[in-house]
Amino acid sequence: MKPVNSLLAATGTTIFTVMSALAVAHDAINLGQGFPDTEGPRDLLDAAAAALMDGRNQYPPLTGVPELRQAVAAANRRFYGIAADPAEEIVVTSGATEALAASLAALLDPGDEVVLIEPLYDTYLPMVKLLGAVPRLVRLAPPRWDLPRAELAAAFGPRTKAILLNTPMNPTGKVFTEDELGFIAGLLQQHDAYAVCDEVYEHLVFEGARHRPLMTLPGMRDRCLRIGSAGKTFALTGWKVGYVTAPRALAGVVAKAHQNFTFTTPPNLQRAVAAGLAKPDAYYAGLAADLALRRDLLAAGLRRLGFGVLPVQGSYFITADYTALAAEDDVAFCRRMTEQARVTAIPLSAFYAGAAPQGFVRFAFCKRPEVLEAALARLAAWLPALTPAAASA
Ligand code: PMP
Ligand code: GLN
Repeated sequence: MKPVNSLLAATGTTIFTVMSALAVAHDAINLGQGFPDTEGPRDLLDAAAAALMDGRNQYPPLTGVPELRQAVAAANRRFYGIAADPAEEIVVTSGATEALAASLAALLDPGDEVVLIEPLYDTYLPMVKLLGAVPRLVRLAPPRWDLPRAELAAAFGPRTKAILLNTPMNPTGKVFTEDELGFIAGLLQQHDAYAVCDEVYEHLVFEGARHRPLMTLPGMRDRCLRIGSAGKTFALTGWKVGYVTAPRALAGVVAKAHQNFTFTTPPNLQRAVAAGLAKPDAYYAGLAADLALRRDLLAAGLRRLGFGVLPVQGSYFITADYTALAAEDDVAFCRRMTEQARVTAIPLSAFYAGAAPQGFVRFAFCKRPEVLEAALARLAAWLPALTPAAASA
């Protein structure tokens, strides 16, 4: 038989699924895959249920129901002062995952170069390669994750079509500074390139940090495709409703990609998300404040146990350094922690294409406080049995 697609055949199952399955097998507390352990807002669930029963269940419009496109445009204006035409500059997709794929497909021809920043989310590299484009990887280094400007500049060249920028960033919890964004904007102008901006954690930003979309910087309005996700904004990760805001000329091509990938997204969920985006500012402030408390609870607990805890300004995730506790690699450590402590995390190396910095794992803190406490108690009971020497034996 002829071989199937070589890239997909060689791609393993995503680390999130692998670790969640291991967590289930060992009855572990799953602080691996990033999903809340409570339902999203009750009024959104009610709105989705009502929207299922009122007779609008056939194909919705290709680029999204008008209510949601208007709500995305209104949110762009309310939070960032971005003016976007709901008819021609917004495309609703089946999650940010599809938005990323459609945005990359809209921009890239085979052979185009795309600048990617490691550590990176797991779909970025396969998507770029599937499109026949060439990834140019630049690394941020722990513990500060500062943008290495000279290396970034060196990754840009005449064939650069785009950068893929994730801020607030998974897995590091970094929020790019205005200064860093300004530097990236300068490179995009210098090289006539675009930015696909993965901003799914836009509302999960903690005190002291501020998320500023690259699209709002001077000269960037026509170069950026800005991606959001209802999954993160409303703690409903299974809904898979995403949205792209882009200049007219690009949004039309994103719509062509969407028409070929999925064509539409379930209309009742779209209508509920439209209601969600109109929630008052207090909802958004509460979302971030509540998550910050959970971050603080888990960070303090991990620190007490001897983990090094890296600073987190946004997202669902803490990166922790376990080298004072064990000497094995991060994959082995996460496996053993799941099997023996019955707490699951994600090895940071999963977010790198090549050899990764060792000794770090990612914990998700988007869980109920009592669940975080229980995980810490399990770790506290397990860790005394570990020493670096014992771990490497
Ligand atoms: N981008 C990043 C950085 C993510 O962490 C995730 C996972 N939540 C996604 C995209 C995918 O979002 P969605 O579930 O809306 O497809
Ligand atoms: N974004 C989630 C995470 O980083 C995972 C999403 C998925 O499992 N595909 O944990």
